[in-house]
Amino acid sequence: MTDRELFSLAVAVKVRSYSPYSGFAVGAALLCADGTVYTGSNIENASYTPTVCAERVAFFKAVSEGKRDFTAIAVAGGESDTTCPPCGVCRQVMAEFCTADFAVVLSDGNGGTQRYTLAQLLPFRFPADNL
Ligand code: ZN
Repeated sequence: MTDRELFSLAVAVKVRSYSPYSGFAVGAALLCADGTVYTGSNIENASYTPTVCAERVAFFKAVSEGKRDFTAIAVAGGESDTTCPPCGVCRQVMAEFCTADFAVVLSDGNGGTQRYTLAQLLPFRFPADNL
C-alpha cells in the first residue's frame, strides 16, 4: 500500500469523527505488518478529558484484535491539505508498540504526503525497556 493510499483511508474515515466541541475532525489509518488496516476517528466528550484521538482509536482497535506489529500510520485532520501531526500522547502510544523507523504519513500541505519516522517525531521517547 502506498503512502497516498493509506492517507486516503485516513481522509475517508474523518466523516466518522465525533467532534461537536472542537469541530476538528481527524481520521487515522494504521497499517499492520500483515497488510491489515485499522482506522480510527477522534471521539470527543462533553467532559473533555475522556476525548480520544483518531490515532489512539486506530491503535487500540488493532491491539485489542491481537495486532502488535505495525508499519505506518496516516493521519488526516481538518481541511484536506492541513498538516495534522500526532499529539504527544499518541506519539507515546506509538512508542509502546513501534520501532524508531515506524512511519507517520501526514499531508505535506500541498496536496501530497510527507513521511516521518517515529524517531523524528519523538526522539527522546520513554520505551518499555526503560522499566
Ligand atoms: Zn493524539
